[in-house]
Amino acid sequence: MTDSKNIVLTGIRPTGALHIGHLVGSLQSNVEIQNQGDYVRMYGMIADAQGLTDNFDNPEKVHENVMEVALDMLAVGYDPSKTVMFIQSEIPELTELTFYYMNLVTVARLQRNPTVKTEISQKEKFNGGIPVGFFTYPISQAADITAFNANIIPVGEDQLPMIEQTVEIVHKFNSIYGDTLVSPRAVVPQLQAAARLPGTDGNAKMGKSLNNCIYLKDSADEIAAKVKTMFTDPKHLRVEDPGNTTENPVFIYLSIFAKPEHFAAFLPEYKNYSELAAHYERGGLGDVKVKKFLNSVLQETLRPIRERRELFAQDTSAVMEVLRQGTETARAAAAETLSRVKRAMKLNYFD
Ligand code: ATP
Ligand code: MG
Repeated sequence: MTDSKNIVLTGIRPTGALHIGHLVGSLQSNVEIQNQGDYVRMYGMIADAQGLTDNFDNPEKVHENVMEVALDMLAVGYDPSKTVMFIQSEIPELTELTFYYMNLVTVARLQRNPTVKTEISQKEKFNGGIPVGFFTYPISQAADITAFNANIIPVGEDQLPMIEQTVEIVHKFNSIYGDTLVSPRAVVPQLQAAARLPGTDGNAKMGKSLNNCIYLKDSADEIAAKVKTMFTDPKHLRVEDPGNTTENPVFIYLSIFAKPEHFAAFLPEYKNYSELAAHYERGGLGDVKVKKFLNSVLQETLRPIRERRELFAQDTSAVMEVLRQGTETARAAAAETLSRVKRAMKLNYFD
């Protein structure tokens, strides 16, 4: 998947603590690439300026979640000696790039972006009108990616239209001003369920703002309580009824998180996921038993993450220092790209 020329960038909006959808959708791929070592540079951006585009009226929320998200990133294995972790708003070069890229995108093209469309329809606060800042965030995302010459972007499925739009901007820029920008490629998890993990309520996407998340920082009790009340197959009323596993988040989570060693430790009557799912589908397997197993699996998966998080949380000023240093490194790279971009656009009067 990777070659030695890769520059990898992931962006996370500090709009809430991170959940298991982020883990399987993007964080895990990032950490895997980081630990394989086949890259020139890795970046982990905390996209606070983008977070403000739909939270402009709640600066405290974005401010507080910068630390939450940084702790989550460190807890899942982001290693600051390998990945440059930085804060978007501290790099004004990104805003400047956005301004120039705005010339290359039409309003109609932005209006067609399916993710932006869905997000706008979900936000009640936009009923009175859509802020230009939010509407144009795909362009600022193109600036974030190209500023660092990133070619590999590990993301969940909802981000595919953004990467597509970035690729279009890159091609348009390069065709008008000469070969300057690097074209990126999205890396989406192969498992469809991981590319868009559903919520505990059965909603198609687990989302920070949807109140249907299992957070990486949830306590053991919180995880247990959430699993207990999870949506399953509403038609599976009695144990002997045949059940649906494909639209059932309990099974979808198991298909991603349950490893053979979990079966051996907690549910040895079954060797693997397929055996368990087959039993549920033909009937005779109750939800309580399956949920108990899912709880054990999630507890095993999340405990080490939570413990690492608690360690990092003991010294938040050290975490801030990691971000400060990362931001300095990232800014130098973005400044280099901006000056190439300006030269290409003939905005270099004093050279
Ligand atoms: P918000 O509602 O504020 O946009 P979010 O939960 O969508 O929050 P982001 O910070 O926008 O989180 O996304 C970070 C990364 O996590 C992106 O690559 C996104 O595709 C991925 N991601 C978010 N939710 C899921 C999910 N439920 N399943 C898989 N990947 C996800
Ligand atoms: Mg999002």
